Amino acid sequence: LYPAWASSVGYHKYDNKLGIPDAKSRDRELAFCKAQADSLHSFKISDLSDANKTDYFLIDNQLKYIEWGINEQRAFEWDPSGYNVSGGFADMLANEYDKLDTRLTNFYEKMGAVPAYYEAAKNNIVNPTKEHTELAIEQNLGGVSVFEKDLEEALTKSGLDDAMKGKIRERAKTTIAAIKGFADWLKNLNNAYPRSFRLGKGLYQRKFELELQSGYSADQVYAFAVTHKLELHEKMFEITKKLWPKYLKSKTMPEDKLQAIRIMIDALSVKHTQPGSFQSEIEKQIPELIAFIKKKDLIYIDPSKPLVVRKEPDYMAGVAGASINAPGPYDKNGNTYYNVGSLAGWEKEKAESYLREYNHYILQILNIHEAIPGHYTQLVYANQSPSIIKSILGNNAMIEGWAVYAERMMLENGYDGDKGVNSTEASPEMWLMYYKWNLRSTCNTILDYSVHTKDMSKDAAMHLLMDEAFQQKAEAEGKWRRVSVTQVQLCCYFTGYTEIYNLREEVKKKVGNKFSLKKFHEKFLSFGSAPVKYIKVMMNN
Ligand code: ZN
Ligand code: ZN
Repeated sequence: LYPAWASSVGYHKYDNKLGIPDAKSRDRELAFCKAQADSLHSFKISDLSDANKTDYFLIDNQLKYIEWGINEQRAFEWDPSGYNVSGGFADMLANEYDKLDTRLTNFYEKMGAVPAYYEAAKNNIVNPTKEHTELAIEQNLGGVSVFEKDLEEALTKSGLDDAMKGKIRERAKTTIAAIKGFADWLKNLNNAYPRSFRLGKGLYQRKFELELQSGYSADQVYAFAVTHKLELHEKMFEITKKLWPKYLKSKTMPEDKLQAIRIMIDALSVKHTQPGSFQSEIEKQIPELIAFIKKKDLIYIDPSKPLVVRKEPDYMAGVAGASINAPGPYDKNGNTYYNVGSLAGWEKEKAESYLREYNHYILQILNIHEAIPGHYTQLVYANQSPSIIKSILGNNAMIEGWAVYAERMMLENGYDGDKGVNSTEASPEMWLMYYKWNLRSTCNTILDYSVHTKDMSKDAAMHLLMDEAFQQKAEAEGKWRRVSVTQVQLCCYFTGYTEIYNLREEVKKKVGNKFSLKKFHEKFLSFGSAPVKYIKVMMNN
């Protein structure tokens, strides 16, 4: 039913298939969900182990999510950007999981279904939103290069005979025509009453439940975020007052709190590494983080599974930053890479603006988040409770929430790169920058909820992001674009973070002075990438 999904998690048996998104296939999906739910429900939950109970709930939720998507959300009618074949084809060329000629043969067979795919898309679309229509046109046209440049490069390296290469090129032309035809069709669509991109409260609340599987409702998390934002502003203003004489002695501090904080952030942001040492700076911090965690006894880090730091591969180039690249669940023996972007060749101004954003302080927080003890550490623990279900249906709120929680936890324990392994207290500068970083996920939640359920205007959104979360205009514009084509995803960071933090405080209270942070972390992570609400039940058992 989901060949593209299978390929993306490393299961390549159906690489030559392309699902046709028509009414018949939706009927098949619904029948599949009904049949699987029936067999799933024949298990008695109380008979299952903790690990299997979580898998049970994850499968049950996934089946409900699919049904809800088809029957209620119906994005296949109003979101044309859901139709785009190029990403899957690009992966077949870029990822070397099989011999190139095998991948190219699958590529060829799969292309055969592209025209039918876009015909089905046109039949589905009813009154699409303007935003998703524009995105669909842009992304589909952007993907054409996969069937021109990328494919041509692969054919040059291929050992297939000329006759087969000719057939592939012919079919690529038909494929490109189908993609461009879809984009043209969208451009000329008579769409006098486009649907609003705002999901609306009812659908939003349900999507929040199905996507995040949080113990809190969307309304609760929104209320937490609003309170948290105000608390962060207070703390940031306290630090700003304290640091003002050190950095801005000659200037009068503005009375407006938010303005004063912004000036202080700008003053601290000039401390940053240089383009040429961006990668080595990140690399250097990894062993320092490990040493600090060991010294403070925060969590066991398995030394037999080192993180491989590498320059990001070419097909990811241009993004900079850093990201974890983990092997899919069907590809266990692969290495886990920490891809670090290079700023080589960037214009001076662009590099400077980027380095101020990822300044001396934020870069440390980024490393905590992405690598240790954030995503990478969580992943190592998740792999110890092997469950293909948890790998494939892993809960994003838990995964992102852990990384965001790890940032705060490290600072609470005194982490500060300038003070070394024996540091007991992070500097005020470090805290101020951390709060700014934390405001981002907090305001993402406020933004997402307000836009989709409270009709927040673009002006109000820009005020929130620029004046209250201290973001640059370009970043805020990008965020507005993102919130107008996605729903709920922007909440996963703050939701998971809040749940994990609150759970830790509850356990701490219950256990009293016998509480061990290390034990809490290790136990929490031992259940894999499950929703926090289930981990909470299992931890209390
Ligand atoms: Zn500079
Ligand atoms: Zn993350």
